[in-house]
Amino acid sequence: MSDIEEHRKKIEEITLEMIKLLKTRTDIAKQIGDAKASLGMTVTDEEREDALRKQVTKLCKEIDLDQSTALKFLNLLLNESVKVQSDGKQTHLSVFLKAKALEEQGKKIIHLEVGEPDFKPPEEVKTALAEVYDKGYGKYGSPKGITELRKFLAETEDDEEGVRCTEENIMICPGARFAVYLAINTLLNPGDEIIVIEPAWPAYKDCALNAGIKVRTIKTTLETKWEPSIEQINNVINENTKMIVLNYPNNPTGKILPADMIEKIMFIAMDHDLYVLSDEIYEEYYNSVKELPTQAWTHNYEKTIVTKSFSKSYAMTGYRIGYVIAEPSIIEKLSKLQALSLTNVSEPIQYVALQALKSQKALLDNSEIIRSRLEVLVKIAKDIGLEFVEPDGAMYLFAKTKYKNFDATKFSEKLLEHGVAIAPGEGFGDYKEFFRITTIDETRLKEGMTILDTVLKESYE
Ligand code: PMP
Repeated sequence: MSDIEEHRKKIEEITLEMIKLLKTRTDIAKQIGDAKASLGMTVTDEEREDALRKQVTKLCKEIDLDQSTALKFLNLLLNESVKVQSDGKQTHLSVFLKAKALEEQGKKIIHLEVGEPDFKPPEEVKTALAEVYDKGYGKYGSPKGITELRKFLAETEDDEEGVRCTEENIMICPGARFAVYLAINTLLNPGDEIIVIEPAWPAYKDCALNAGIKVRTIKTTLETKWEPSIEQINNVINENTKMIVLNYPNNPTGKILPADMIEKIMFIAMDHDLYVLSDEIYEEYYNSVKELPTQAWTHNYEKTIVTKSFSKSYAMTGYRIGYVIAEPSIIEKLSKLQALSLTNVSEPIQYVALQALKSQKALLDNSEIIRSRLEVLVKIAKDIGLEFVEPDGAMYLFAKTKYKNFDATKFSEKLLEHGVAIAPGEGFGDYKEFFRITTIDETRLKEGMTILDTVLKESYE
């Protein structure tokens, strides 16, 4: 056998051996997952993973192997474990689907779990829906969106004082969720790392996991008013870190980070050449001028991607329309995947969104409705003794109770039997004792909260 043949044979043997090991590894990961779930433990053990990372780094030095590649490979293996162990987590979506199924059986449900305004889109939307057919919108179009809409949106971002935005910086997407998916899947590669500050809307983590990207979680707490420390962020950054996600006003806590903290995070991102994915879909919903919603675009950092949406500000969740703001080179990359997967965003809906934008009054009215409803929710929650940090914005309250060993997942199941749906905290990270309540119209909200209070007392006193 020639030398080449012999080496090829060896590589084949090693490959087959690796595949056998992978099978064993997946089986064991599944068993560990089941054991953790039965003990109520979280899937990711950051300390354990850090220790493993250190061992890999040490080994790389000993055997002279490129560290970044080895750590990427480790990330892929760790991600596989997270995937096999993550099944069965209760999120606001899973509760929503259960609630819907109950409604189909004729049961009345008060929805405090789902994140959507319960009022109608502006009147302009109704008129536009009637007009759109005759106007001829309804053909294939550019994957970046119709120019008129992109121009209009760009103008709202461009303040002529150094913060520039043209239509080249805008891409229309079918909702901010798809924008997040595009950004994570296009800009990052398997084995890369993304920083998510928890509690967080679950899609950042799920998109990353789906794309083979390792999530480095920063856990914030009620005690520290949901603020991460700069040290926490610095501690998780390494050569494979490629993106940090910001979402302020935050879902689920309603937190808005102080401007100086955002500035520090932007500097860290610039120093380490990280993308900043700033999800600003709650930008119109905030309570006071004390802390203003994050406006990452104003920092003029070329690796910033901002996602916005018509879903919340214009109460257009089901229309599926949102947009991205980024540098043209990033927009170009995102639009390739959008074209590949969708061709283009529905033209009629883009026209309708353009008309919605012309209703500044609706925007102001909606913001006021949400702000006052959040106030009502805060008051009721205080009255019934829930523990929380008062939200600075968004449309939620993230709370826990005074009871020891309170399990919000079990409580939400019980509450659903009494006709009230809430979102268990475990969907937003390691927060099993918390739950999220969406603010809705005052009458239904009061009704729902009274039932919540009764079930709580019946169960724990
Ligand atoms: N980002 C956050 C923080 C959200 O809470 C949601 C929806 N709940 C989205 C994005 C998705 O919005 P859209 O309907 O535009 O896809």
